Amino acid sequence: MARELFTARLDRKVCISESTQCFHFEFVLEELESFSFSPGQFISAVAEDADGKQQTRAYSLASAANVNRFDLCVNRVQGGFFSNHLADLPDEPLEVGGKIHIHGPHGHFVLHQPISDSILIATGTGVAPMRGFTQWLFPENGPDRSEGKQIWLVYGTRYESEIYYHEEFEALAERAPNFHYLPTLSRAPESWGGLRGYVQDHVARIVQERAALLGQPLPLPAPDPAIPAAELNFDIRAYICGLNNMVASVRDRLTEFGWHRKQIVFERYD
Ligand SMILES: Cc1cc2nc3c(=O)[nH]c(=O)nc-3n(C[C@H](O)[C@H](O)[C@H](O)COP(=O)(O)OP(=O)(O)OC[C@H]3O[C@@H](n4cnc5c(N)ncnc54)[C@H](O)[C@@H]3O)c2cc1C
Repeated sequence: MARELFTARLDRKVCISESTQCFHFEFVLEELESFSFSPGQFISAVAEDADGKQQTRAYSLASAANVNRFDLCVNRVQGGFFSNHLADLPDEPLEVGGKIHIHGPHGHFVLHQPISDSILIATGTGVAPMRGFTQWLFPENGPDRSEGKQIWLVYGTRYESEIYYHEEFEALAERAPNFHYLPTLSRAPESWGGLRGYVQDHVARIVQERAALLGQPLPLPAPDPAIPAAELNFDIRAYICGLNNMVASVRDRLTEFGWHRKQIVFERYD
């Protein structure tokens, strides 16, 4: 069955990191009154390449549902077709007022109900769905949906200039005492006063400190095999998004702690 294609008009475009050529995009779907999706889902963007071949790429929605608008966060991949089409094509850049075609929303990278303590783990543009999650959990103009659960965002990049939406997450951490923002740099200069190293190490520390606080043994005991996987309840989950290497490293660490596969929700970009 042919998928329904929508036309999205670019309303705002901001370069949020010069060094990675990462852009924040705000689109409007003028033919729709509302575009409904769950935070964390993605859209498929469709365009013809220079040979007239239809190309489709997935991009995570970088916002929570907001009338007929959605945001994307895309960095330019050297030699890549679509990211250059969106971000920085020298001959034909997509500028404000320009249009793209999309279908969706798609995907199962969504917050599980009921909301539990959650560790959101991202590198690079993997932060896009996390921005959607945090906008939904802690809306600026509306009731809090975090239900008082502890929400950590462990966000890894190489350099400070590559931390996307840094001020937004800092402001949220000021506003919401149960939101913990932990950016970590793998190539931090001496002057950097924040966390250093890889996300998986900081995730491990959170898990260990929390288990100690709750008096839980690690590794956790396996759940009762009599309970079907679909009916298992967890008091904490991890949501991981980024390139496969990072996702695999974090999953391995959590599995060593006895975490169940259903507790670990992930989206891989490659
Ligand atoms: C579910 C999902 C959600 C995604 N969400 C986002 C998002 O929010 N923001 C975003 O920027 N990207 C996202 N991606 C990646 C995106 O779909 C494209 O793969 C990416 O933009 C590159 O496409 P391209 O057409 O520019 O490159 P292509 O023409 O497809 O590839 C050119 C070259 O770049 C390599 N390459 C492809 N993808 C990557 C990558 N991600 N990093 C490094 N090298 C790569 C290829 O191996 C190839 O050698 C997502 C992918 C998936 C599966």
